[in-house]
Amino acid sequence: MQDLWYEFEDINSSDIPYLISLLNDSFQDWMAESSGLPLFNQAGLCLLTSDMMVICRSGIFHDETSQLEAARQASCLTFVSHNIETIEHEGWRSVAVPIKRRSDNSFPFVVLTASAKVIDEAITGQLQSASFHLRNCFYRRFERMFVTDILRAQRESEQEARNRASWFAAAKRLYDGIDVASVLSEMMNSLSTLYPESQIRLYLSQDHLEGDPRVLSLQFNHPTGDFVAKAFLEAKPNMRKRDQGFVDVVVPMTGKQAVYGVLRLVLPAAQWNQADFTALTLLADTAGNAFENAKLYEQSNVMIGELRLINELTKRLNQSLKLKDVFHYTTSELMRIYEADCCCLLSYDPAQQQFVVMSSSLPSFENEQFSTEYGFTGVVYRSQEPVIISDYWLTNAVSSRWMEETGSRSLIAAPILAGSEVAGIIMVGHRMPHYFSYDNYKLLQVLSSHIGLAMSNASLHAEVRRMVITDHLTNLNARHYLNDRIQRKQRTDRCGSLILVDIDKFKDVNDTFGHQVGDRILVQVADVIKSSIRGTDTAARWGGEELAVYLPEIRREQAYRIAERIRAKVESDTDPKVTVSCGLSEWTFEDDKVSVEALFYRADMALYQAKHNGRNCVVVG
Ligand code: GH3
Ligand code: MG
Ligand code: MG
Repeated sequence: MQDLWYEFEDINSSDIPYLISLLNDSFQDWMAESSGLPLFNQAGLCLLTSDMMVICRSGIFHDETSQLEAARQASCLTFVSHNIETIEHEGWRSVAVPIKRRSDNSFPFVVLTASAKVIDEAITGQLQSASFHLRNCFYRRFERMFVTDILRAQRESEQEARNRASWFAAAKRLYDGIDVASVLSEMMNSLSTLYPESQIRLYLSQDHLEGDPRVLSLQFNHPTGDFVAKAFLEAKPNMRKRDQGFVDVVVPMTGKQAVYGVLRLVLPAAQWNQADFTALTLLADTAGNAFENAKLYEQSNVMIGELRLINELTKRLNQSLKLKDVFHYTTSELMRIYEADCCCLLSYDPAQQQFVVMSSSLPSFENEQFSTEYGFTGVVYRSQEPVIISDYWLTNAVSSRWMEETGSRSLIAAPILAGSEVAGIIMVGHRMPHYFSYDNYKLLQVLSSHIGLAMSNASLHAEVRRMVITDHLTNLNARHYLNDRIQRKQRTDRCGSLILVDIDKFKDVNDTFGHQVGDRILVQVADVIKSSIRGTDTAARWGGEELAVYLPEIRREQAYRIAERIRAKVESDTDPKVTVSCGLSEWTFEDDKVSVEALFYRADMALYQAKHNGRNCVVVG
C-alpha cells in the first residue's frame, strides 16, 4: 500500500495550544477504546502538556503534587524510558510517561500520568502501552483534521477558480461588446451572476443606455450621491457598512482617457470579501475600457455616417448649378436626414437688407421676406452662430412666426456664411420638444458650410453665365444669346420682328471726339433701346456699333413704330448727338422657311437701304 503523505505531517511544540481540544477528543477516544483495561479502575489518569498544563483527567484517584512531579520528570525524558520513577506523596504514588511526536524522539509534547495508592509493574506496563495507544488516537484525529483542512482549502480554491472563470468570462464578453449599451448591460449581468443577492447600480456621467432602470445619472448634489460622487471624483473604490448587515461598495469605471461612471453594489456583508475589491476594480476598469472603445466606435460610426452624408449632399449639390435647385434639394435632404417636420432656407438680399425664403417645406412661406431683426433669423444673423432650441414654448426671448405656423417646439438653425457675411440661414424644426441632439446641431453646422459652398458655386456659375451672355460695354446681351433666343422663339411662337440699329457715320464721331466719347455714345444708344422695349423683348450688341432688338409675337407694323421711337429718341437724347438707321424684318409661321439667318439677312438688307436712303430712318425689309 502506498504511503499517505499526510501520515508524515507532524505537529511542533508551538502548535500545542491550538491542539488542546484535539488532545481532549483524542483522550476521550482512547478511553472509550480502552475502557476494559484494569488501569482505569486502579488509577487516576491525567494528560498534561509538556509545560505542565492539565488537559484532561479521568478516574477518581488523584494526587496533584505527585502527578505534577512525575510529569515534570517525564517531560525531561528524551527517550521512552523503561524505568519510570514512581513519585510518592502523602501515601499517593504517581507515575508518568512522555508522549513524543511521531517524527522525532526528542522531547515529549504531552505527558500521561497515573496516580494510585499502589503502583505496581502491571500499572506501569499498562500505562506504557496506553501512551502509545493514546498517541495513535491523537494522530488519527490530527490526520483527520489535516485532511478536513485540506479538503476545505480545496473546496475554497475550487470556488475561487469558478469565480475567477466567471470574472474572466465577464471580462472577455465585455471586450466582445461593440456597442455601449451591450457593454454596460454585460457588466451588470455578470455582476448579478457573481453576487446574486446584490443590488447593482451604475451611475454614469453621460447619458447612455436609456430605459435600463439600473443605470442612473451621476448626481453631485444628492446626499447619498456624495459617496458615489466621491468615488468618481477621486477615481477610488470605497466601501461602507449599512444597516442590517449590508455593505455598500462603490468602484469607479475608468477607461484610458477618463472616468465614465461609478459601479455600486449593495450586498449582504457575509457575501463581501475585501479581496473582491481587486476583482471588482479589474472588472470595472475592463468595462471602462470596453465602454471607451465602444464609445469611440460609435462616434467613429457616426462620423463615417456624417461624412458619407456630407459627401452625398455635396456631390448632389455640385451637380446642380441652378440656385433654385440647390435650395430645394437642400430643404428636402435636411427633412430626410433629420426626419424633421419642417425646414426652410432663407437667402440674404443685400439690396433690400432682408432675408427672403428661397425654399420651404411649408409652401406658404416661399418668397416671404423677413427683416434681419426678426425671430431666429435675426438671432443667427446677429451672432453668425448656429442655435439650438429645445423647447420653443419655454423660450420667451424670441417670437417666431415660422415656429408658430409650423407648430415646432424644437429648432436647429445655422448661418450660411460667405466669407465673414451671412449669406443665408437654414432652419430645421420639429413638433416634439428636445428633439434635436447636440450632434444634430453640430452636423447642421458642417452641412451649412457645404450648402454655402454649393450656393456660392451656383451663384458664381450664374454670374459667369451672365457675363458670357452680356456685352460688358453696353450691358446688352451678346450676339450668340440673341441668336439662341430667336431660334427658341421660332419653335414656339407664331411670329416675331427683328430691328437692326446702326449708328450713322460713327467713324466720323470717333474721329471727331475720340473713341472714349464714341463708347459713351454707344452706351447712350443702348440705354435708349433698353428703355424703349418690353421685358420680353431682347436687345443685343450685334457687333461694333450695330445693335439688334428681337420683338417676339410682334408684327412689322408695330415693330416699325418701336424702331421709329428708338430712332427719334436717339436723335433727341444723345450727346454729342448722333442718329441711327434701322433695318426691320419679320417672320410668321406661314413663311416657307423660318430661320434666324434669313431674318437677319432681310433686316441687314433693309438697313443697307436705310443708309442708301440718306440715314436716320427706318426701312422695313
Ligand atoms: P455708316 O454706318 O453711317 O455707313 O458709317 P459708319 O462710319 O458708322 O460705318 P463704318 O462701318 O464705316 O464704321 C464703323 C465704325 O464704328 C468703325 C469703328 O471705329 C466704330 N466702332 C465700331 N465699334 C466701336 C466701339 O466699340 N467703340 C467705338 N468708339 N467705335 C466703334
Ligand atoms: Mg456699321
Ligand atoms: Mg454705322
